[in-house]
Amino acid sequence: MAQQLVARRFCDWHRALPEPEQVEATATRRANAETAIDLCGFCALVWDLVYPRKDELLQMLNDDVIHVLMRSAHSVKDADCTNSSEPAQLALSAAKPALTAEPKKTTAKPTSGRKSVANRGRWINGEDQVRCPLKHLGANSPDEYWVKVSDRGSHAHGSHKKLAQEISWVLPADGSVTLDYKCREHKLCAAYDDGAGFGFPSKSALSTHVFKADEAGWEDAPGRDAAETLQAADQPAA
Ligand SMILES: [Zn+2]
Ligand SMILES: [Zn+2]
Ligand SMILES: [Zn+2]
Repeated sequence: MAQQLVARRFCDWHRALPEPEQVEATATRRANAETAIDLCGFCALVWDLVYPRKDELLQMLNDDVIHVLMRSAHSVKDADCTNSSEPAQLALSAAKPALTAEPKKTTAKPTSGRKSVANRGRWINGEDQVRCPLKHLGANSPDEYWVKVSDRGSHAHGSHKKLAQEISWVLPADGSVTLDYKCREHKLCAAYDDGAGFGFPSKSALSTHVFKADEAGWEDAPGRDAAETLQAADQPAA
């Protein structure tokens, strides 16, 4: 009797990437009450440790937060930084870190981070950026203020107390950024750009937005649902 080969299973997360990869799955995780996903070892680690803290991590890695972090840097001669020589620990307590964009009040001059302050809003070669047409406070803010496409939401919120969909972003004149994957699912997105929809650079970026906006309870545009939007995203708008 021929022995049946056990079908190899591949990591669902790696297959979901914009450029899918076939990586052998070594773990299974519950996606919800009825379904499970197969994951490789790395993705299982990310699923277990990183994914539950996704929002905090995205906040932590946000340019504006890093900017504030760097501004709060103090001299290495200060007595209270002796802990920095201790090995870094993965602080994975269940407690949510208190994240705040409030700059730490300090009289010490920052010893690093000047570069990131000076570069805020400036064009960076090789990055997909859009121009924010609004006014920017801050002595170093350039007149033409560029924001990474992936940072539109955090910039809009952090600098203008707005949603990205409330800002008329200007695309680079050279056509290097097109944002063809339009969200028309949400009322705000559907109204954007005279009804063209709010654009994203990839289907996965659009999916992430739809997922997060739905989770946050954004109002649907009349007669739309997420499945339609994502299906339409298979054929990017011209
Ligand atoms: Zn994987
Ligand atoms: Zn702005
Ligand atoms: Zn939307």
